[in-house]
Amino acid sequence: RTVYVNGDYVPEAEAKISVFDRGFLMADGVYEVTSVLDGKLIDFDGHCKRLARSLSELEISNPHSDDEWLAIHRELVARNDIVDGMVYLQVTRGNPGDRDFAYPPADTAPTVVLFTQSKPGLAESPVAKTGWKVISIPDIRWGRRDIKTVQLLYPSMGKMAAKKAGVDDAWLVEDGFVTEGTSNNAYIVKGNRIITRALSSDILHGITRAAVLRFAREAQMEVEERNFTIDEAKSADEAFITSASAFVMPVVEVDGAPVGTGTVGRVATRLREIYLEEMRKAAV
Ligand code: PMP
Repeated sequence: RTVYVNGDYVPEAEAKISVFDRGFLMADGVYEVTSVLDGKLIDFDGHCKRLARSLSELEISNPHSDDEWLAIHRELVARNDIVDGMVYLQVTRGNPGDRDFAYPPADTAPTVVLFTQSKPGLAESPVAKTGWKVISIPDIRWGRRDIKTVQLLYPSMGKMAAKKAGVDDAWLVEDGFVTEGTSNNAYIVKGNRIITRALSSDILHGITRAAVLRFAREAQMEVEERNFTIDEAKSADEAFITSASAFVMPVVEVDGAPVGTGTVGRVATRLREIYLEEMRKAAV
């Protein structure tokens, strides 16, 4: 596999990052994941905008223009023959040459790494026909979840808790309300109404969330952006999650209780279809 490191396209075995890189020592960096379908990037613009915002919130200078980011993404997709899969991008505060809590001088070059993962048939995932089961766990993450940092230890622990419980993911709960999934935004459906937590620093501002809510409104579904509880999810008609890599994924069980009929719902299925159809059309 060919990966991108600081301006160079190199075989993955030859890629090198300093042991003093702040991404490695302090999780001082941000990332994006963009899906690829039929060799094209899904919602690239959305990911570029969020990347710029994450970097700006951490006072890391954006090393590339949107056009340059696009060119690097396309080059990697081409070099690795990616038909369906994803491009991972990470920018860290770079290598100050020593370990120090204070940020290095602002002219320290950020470290830029991109790689691809091939996932043949990504959009035809059979799991979308049966849906995910989730458990709930406390949300003990930090207070700036709107910044897409590489600080992913707690989400990883959540995923492992889910695996140990024999389910697919964990929904995080804070002050009695669901914030989001370990790596996705969470929704419930009541009748024709889609309910999801409003944007704030409590959750990541999902790129897929923005697109799906737009399509839902265009399809005359009602969207209510408010908090909901695990009990409300258990008694909802449907539930689902969204993310750039899972698109729209139905959730059929929460903490052992079936959601609605316990099968994949009509609204989630429809939204998945609309999302994939529209985003394929707009892919670059
Ligand atoms: N919340 C969290 C915590 C995430 O990690 C992700 C995926 N990166 C999302 C939500 C979904 O965001 P997106 O739709 O942009 O992939």
